[in-house]
Amino acid sequence: MSQVGLQLDDEQKAIVETVRDFVDREVIPVADEMEHSDEYPEKIVEMMKEMGLFGVTVPEEFGGLGQPLTLYALIVSELSRGWMSLSGIMNTHFISSYLLRKHGRDEQKEKYLPKMAAGEVRAALSMSEPGAGSDVAAITCKAIRDGDSYVVDGQKMWVTNGLRAGIVTLLCKTDPASDPVHRGISILLVEKTPGEENPAEGLIVGKNIPKLGYKGVETTELTFEGHRVPVEQLLGEEEGQGFRQVMDGIEVGRVNVAARAVGVATRAFEEAIRYAQVRETMGKPIAHHQAIAFKLAEMGTKVEAARLMLLNAAQKKDAGERSDLEAGMAKLFTSEICYEVCLDALRVHGGYGYSEEFTVERLYRDAPFLLIGEGTSEIQKMVIARQLLERYKVET
Ligand SMILES: Cc1cc2nc3c(=O)[nH]c(=O)nc-3n(C[C@H](O)[C@H](O)[C@H](O)COP(=O)(O)OP(=O)(O)OC[C@H]3O[C@@H](n4cnc5c(N)ncnc54)[C@H](O)[C@@H]3O)c2cc1C
Repeated sequence: MSQVGLQLDDEQKAIVETVRDFVDREVIPVADEMEHSDEYPEKIVEMMKEMGLFGVTVPEEFGGLGQPLTLYALIVSELSRGWMSLSGIMNTHFISSYLLRKHGRDEQKEKYLPKMAAGEVRAALSMSEPGAGSDVAAITCKAIRDGDSYVVDGQKMWVTNGLRAGIVTLLCKTDPASDPVHRGISILLVEKTPGEENPAEGLIVGKNIPKLGYKGVETTELTFEGHRVPVEQLLGEEEGQGFRQVMDGIEVGRVNVAARAVGVATRAFEEAIRYAQVRETMGKPIAHHQAIAFKLAEMGTKVEAARLMLLNAAQKKDAGERSDLEAGMAKLFTSEICYEVCLDALRVHGGYGYSEEFTVERLYRDAPFLLIGEGTSEIQKMVIARQLLERYKVET
């Protein structure tokens, strides 16, 4: 793929190259089998820790690599080219570390960021509930202050890394009666023992929710019943900032989803163009039938455009410019084309694309999640349209 639009120094290029080699050597040979058996990639995660991948954007003073979002996005694309679930293990951890870095108090940064950068403590981000996904402000999980702690009660849903996380970045209502509603929402940094179903008093981790794809990484429910969280675990200085904080986190999360989409679509394209040159029908490789050649041309073009939109959104954010529109557009476009490219890759494989023996089957099951996570395509369109109407406002 082209390097147009990419502004990386030699060290950064070397990091991306190292991750690409790691994916080719350690991930691609085992990913299909581990995904089919829904196996958590312990050994691969250990190697990712050693490479510093859990602290790519964490500042060096806290033990991270201190790299920009653009580099993180390229790393996520490489990992997702191998196996999207690896980026799932990193993503809510990355958003949580971003939120701590941007909105946390100094003592919270000092306490958590070094361990998070090392991957020693990993984080989950819990916003969704059985009755609230797109409508974030509709959450009902409440945290009511009682002396030196908050008492948390409520049901959380779809918590990726819910079992293995040592910290849950929890969106909850510290003032359920607040009007406007979003001013009653806060974030608590909930500590728990990783890997345990009853990790703390009043906190239960539900079973791993069986999923269409995106296997290997667990997604769980969390039940809070009178769970006490010390008041110093409130993210930032004051209550009522959680909605604003989490929306900031979701903006970089959208770049992350776009990066995954580019990685998965790139792999689907690579698998298809390879197969099209070795599979013969009617006396020639299928790549030489115009119908398939045109499909490959469309797939390659979509992947290239997706990659440029991803880089544009990430680099704008790194430059300190407002980038919510670009992040939304990148998330929408890349996830939609990823699904299309995966379906086309499956078609190029004919019947074999439907078989578990070929990677495109897995890619095709992974792709739809990208249409949903960090805001569905419908929600992206609402966000994009709102901003375009602001920018192109006609005074009447
Ligand atoms: C595998 C997986 C992992 C996840 N991991 C996490 C996680 O780690 N942490 C977390 O907090 N959440 C997580 N989620 C939840 C995810 O963020 C939500 O599923 C997503 O935000 C959509 O919410 P919902 O499922 O409640 O759908 P709903 O909000 O009920 O939406 C249903 C449909 O209605 C559409 N819709 C909703 N509102 C509107 C509207 N106003 N206008 C037009 N259309 C609308 C949606 O686009 C969608 O098509 C995960 C989900 C999955 C599947």
